[in-house]
Amino acid sequence: MKYSFRIGSAWGIPIELHFTFTLLIAAVFALSLWSLSFYTFFIVLFLFVFVVFHELAHSIVARRYGIKVRKIVLYPIGGVSEIEELPDNPSQEWRMAVAGPATSLVLGLALLIISLILSPQLFPAIITFAVTGNFLFDLAILNVLLGIFNLIPAFPMDGGRVFRALLAERMKYSDATRYAVNLGRLLGVIMVVVGFVFNFLLILVGLFVYIGASEEGEQTIISTKLAGVRVKDVMQLEVGYVNPQQTLSEALEIMFKNRYHDVLVENENVFEGIITWNELMKIEAHQRDAIRVEQMPLKKISIYSDESILEANKIIIREKIDLIPVVARENPSKVVGTLTSEAIANAYEQVRTR
Ligand SMILES: [Zn+2]
Repeated sequence: MKYSFRIGSAWGIPIELHFTFTLLIAAVFALSLWSLSFYTFFIVLFLFVFVVFHELAHSIVARRYGIKVRKIVLYPIGGVSEIEELPDNPSQEWRMAVAGPATSLVLGLALLIISLILSPQLFPAIITFAVTGNFLFDLAILNVLLGIFNLIPAFPMDGGRVFRALLAERMKYSDATRYAVNLGRLLGVIMVVVGFVFNFLLILVGLFVYIGASEEGEQTIISTKLAGVRVKDVMQLEVGYVNPQQTLSEALEIMFKNRYHDVLVENENVFEGIITWNELMKIEAHQRDAIRVEQMPLKKISIYSDESILEANKIIIREKIDLIPVVARENPSKVVGTLTSEAIANAYEQVRTR
């Protein structure tokens, strides 16, 4: 199911709105109608334009390091850049993470300077961070706050990633994560305690920070464990194949028998590729008896048995497939097994509960 829809794109990166975001905008609009004051509505709307700039900064740096950015999605709590994979190297990771807050700060300060040149009487409001009713000025302050908030060295904020990456340049990635998670939890607890005394909102932020830090920690521990699991540890023996001369109906039959959405194509023990469910479904039912597998586009995807299943998982997600043929490194045209998304999910469950 699709919970977000596309509103545009920049530098080839699709920008989408999550449906909860439209609910937020609708709610703010309704409140504005009620009070007949649209100031907050426009501030919220414009702030999110600047959130897009913040996310684009992350995405553009990611792309410069050759990391594919799938899309940017706007949620009521902010934007998220969905990237294909995390950078392997810490110096890339912190640059990527710092680009967002840096952009917010630079844009915020630029807006601040412009608004102060236009209305110098607002100068004292800088210290109080008060809402002034001056559109440019308030937007500037919000951007500065967005930048500062994201620099807090705790997951899930950008600052948590920056902090971990800087540590990871000096120690093991898993140790760096543990320190970053602990600092994040500590900051979360401090915020909750301080929040009880000063500001209720801070309690919520503190809880959000505490949970975010813990989740990131668990996620990294799981990935580290999963990275140690090899394809050959969880692969199955061949789950059935078709040869290129067979018809699509026969291929479909094997898919149903295997309960997997794709099927492996072999010609006299030589691996030719896989035929996917999506390709098969493009052919109308009454034609499937007449068309042979070799007439279809095959995906020539495979993985070596000694690779990590994390690598396999990336391929499965990227190619939207259900199984990957496993081939021998010495002879890549010989299939030695099949790795299914189900087997990866099982391995994930196992390391999670262990
Ligand atoms: Zn960010």
